[in-house]
Amino acid sequence: MNFCNRYFELPSHFYSQLNAEPLHEAVLLHANQPLLASLSIGLEQEALRQMTSGQTLPPGLSSLAQKYTGHQFGYYNPDLGDGRGLLLGQAIDPKHRLWDLHLKGAGQTPYSRRGDGRAVLRSAIREYLGGEALHALGIPSTRCLSLCHNREAVRRETYEPRAAYIRVAKTHVRFGHFEWLAEHRDLGGMQQLTDYVIDTVYPELRALNPQERYAELLHTILRNTADLIAGWQSVGFCHGVLNTDNMSVAAETFDFGPYAFMDDFKIHHICNHSDTEGRYAYSQQPNIGLWNCQVFAQAYALILDENQRDAILADAINGYVETYNQRYLDKMRAKLGLQTPQPQDRELVADLLMLMDQADIDFQHFFLELATLQTQQAGSWHPLAPASKAWRLWFERYQLRCQLEENPSQIAQTILQHTPRFVLRNYINQEVIEAAEHGDFNLLHRVFDALRAPFEQHPELPQHYYQAPRLASQKGIALSCSS
Ligand code: AMP
Ligand code: MG
Repeated sequence: MNFCNRYFELPSHFYSQLNAEPLHEAVLLHANQPLLASLSIGLEQEALRQMTSGQTLPPGLSSLAQKYTGHQFGYYNPDLGDGRGLLLGQAIDPKHRLWDLHLKGAGQTPYSRRGDGRAVLRSAIREYLGGEALHALGIPSTRCLSLCHNREAVRRETYEPRAAYIRVAKTHVRFGHFEWLAEHRDLGGMQQLTDYVIDTVYPELRALNPQERYAELLHTILRNTADLIAGWQSVGFCHGVLNTDNMSVAAETFDFGPYAFMDDFKIHHICNHSDTEGRYAYSQQPNIGLWNCQVFAQAYALILDENQRDAILADAINGYVETYNQRYLDKMRAKLGLQTPQPQDRELVADLLMLMDQADIDFQHFFLELATLQTQQAGSWHPLAPASKAWRLWFERYQLRCQLEENPSQIAQTILQHTPRFVLRNYINQEVIEAAEHGDFNLLHRVFDALRAPFEQHPELPQHYYQAPRLASQKGIALSCSS
């Protein structure tokens, strides 16, 4: 087992060293065995419980709270930082890659402002399951290693059970870290942080000379962010709070509190009911991703060579736009079972989404039914589509488009390879949380296991988990930032 905390190599004003406020008499509710194995962490159950409940850390780890800032809902907030989480350090995996371990719910820090520094079981479960679901769908995300709770009640809208969990990420360096350094025009600090990011997250860039390396890092982060957001759009994932302090420079899904996998397709779906203006609506994510990247790039510009600065920034922003457009179209084309690009694909996808939005069609189910339709005789009607002229015309276009495929017999299979059967809908999260709050953690374990293989059938789960939500109360559940 190999642990360290490389963040201590950075200047001391980057963090506050401190210990967690322990959760007394904490019970370990879940250990992510596949993740523990992939990181080669061989801790005994009791050692993992002690670490997750903020009591004892294994040798090599030592905790700190990071300072950062960021734009929240469009406004700069200079007072941010880890307010209820601590970076414990890094695990070194068998390939010598570093993985940040961060304890969330670890108590107050100098950056807590008025917060209590705690996490509640509800949001801990949501992050625990959400990260695993995204990862299994092939979308980069932070994941959780272990989860514990105790009998303390934490005040939110009501009193809720307290929890703590260890989050694993490629890094906890956020766009907001760079905004903080730019605010103080701390050039030296920014160079040190940039070198740290290259060393710990993008070591392949070390081969380039320093100026190329800095430009290439910006390009890479923006391209990867575009790719990430294309992934979200293609699976109907809404992040909920895309503030710049919730954007990781490793381009992993990060700090996704009130997230949702969409039920009925609604282009402007807002999953966070604190987001009254829809700044972070589903349709806005690609633009907000770009906005966040621009804020990041402006801050990062401090370390770029002045003569090349404008050209590098313009290039990086173009890279975001091109990557997003390309990756999004590739992913949506695959959802339609199509493999060979054709000029009409963009419009075919856009028109389908518009029709789905108007007809309240379940985003996940539509594609499963489309695959079934492919295996039936021509002329059969999609069971979810209304019998309207607009839909008939769309299906005619789609059928003509399918004929352009080199291997039409593979269309159904391609759709199924890109359409999960089991999706972590919010009502499923809700059922897991309610069971857990009543002391039953069995469903948490079963749902966690099933999420790891989302393209398969899981007969061990309640049958209704495979159906699109039927009851209005199960659909489009919105959540607040409160966690
Ligand atoms: P989040 O909405 O989780 O991304 O948090 C935004 C900022 O508020 C971060 O600086 C958090 O550390 C801080 N924060 C959120 N909730 C709490 C809490 N209960 N106690 C202390 N700080 C918090
Ligand atoms: Mg955050």
